[in-house]
Amino acid sequence: MHYLARSLRGGFLINLFALLVANLFSAEPVLSKNQRFEYHDDIQALARSLPDSFHHDEKLVSILTALTAGYPEALQGLEISSDQRLVVCLTGQKFIYDDGLTKTFEERLDHPDIKDMFYQTYPLANPTDRLPKDFDPGRYRIEALFMALYGESESAVAKNCVAVEFCGHSVKFNARCGAADALRAVSGDLTTLLAHKPELRAYVNKLAGTFNWRKIAGTERLSEHSFGTAIDLNVEKAAYWRWQSPTQMETFSRKNWPTEIIENFERHGFIWGGKWWHFDTMHFEYRPEIIAYAKSAPARIPETQTAHP
Ligand SMILES: [Zn+2]
Repeated sequence: MHYLARSLRGGFLINLFALLVANLFSAEPVLSKNQRFEYHDDIQALARSLPDSFHHDEKLVSILTALTAGYPEALQGLEISSDQRLVVCLTGQKFIYDDGLTKTFEERLDHPDIKDMFYQTYPLANPTDRLPKDFDPGRYRIEALFMALYGESESAVAKNCVAVEFCGHSVKFNARCGAADALRAVSGDLTTLLAHKPELRAYVNKLAGTFNWRKIAGTERLSEHSFGTAIDLNVEKAAYWRWQSPTQMETFSRKNWPTEIIENFERHGFIWGGKWWHFDTMHFEYRPEIIAYAKSAPARIPETQTAHP
């Protein structure tokens, strides 16, 4: 209370402030506290420690395992809020696991919870032909999570970026969470590949960019390029859904894209923008949690004719 006593020696505003602070402290015991479950390197045990009503979610353990595989230091524990929502504590922040809302496709993109991030399973099989409408695994991103992982502003991300040699280019990539190291590893594998298949050089002889703090065209959402964790290859080899008419999207095949390049990226924790209904074939982003989840729950691509809720 020595701080409070000092404040009280000040003027009226300081007194008022001190009063507010004192009220805040006195109010604290009546504030409802989340029930907390600490993580100690055992996700199964963490899930078992939850009350019975949380044991029915068949995805919870896989999702927490994938998040921990992708970002080994991130998971700190779980909480149950006063309204009985499960909260995932990651890298000093709290995220609702399942908000219980029924969402449209756009709502899920704009306001995903943790479970929405894994709503669709990224298909690891190659090559990919057509995809069903709105099949966009990896596009549901909780912006606040990526800000916590990689930097919460353009300048904060810029400080975390380092120069990476990528197939003869120097590019900026985020050094956090192993992203820059993963891109270096992709470059190493691609260099070996291009030595055997020089016809593939056209995909990387020019690049369309990495770190760029910006919104996704036509949306209020930050692009993954904002965090310095995405790379666009040669735009001259690219197809992008906004350049096509809606009728072309249904018949668009990804089969002519070189499987070896895609597999190189996927091996090191990147997802390919070509495996989205809203395709962006020059785009690769570092999403080790999505790749880890795909490996744990191998997915068949849903039937292209099936309507998606
Ligand atoms: Zn991109």
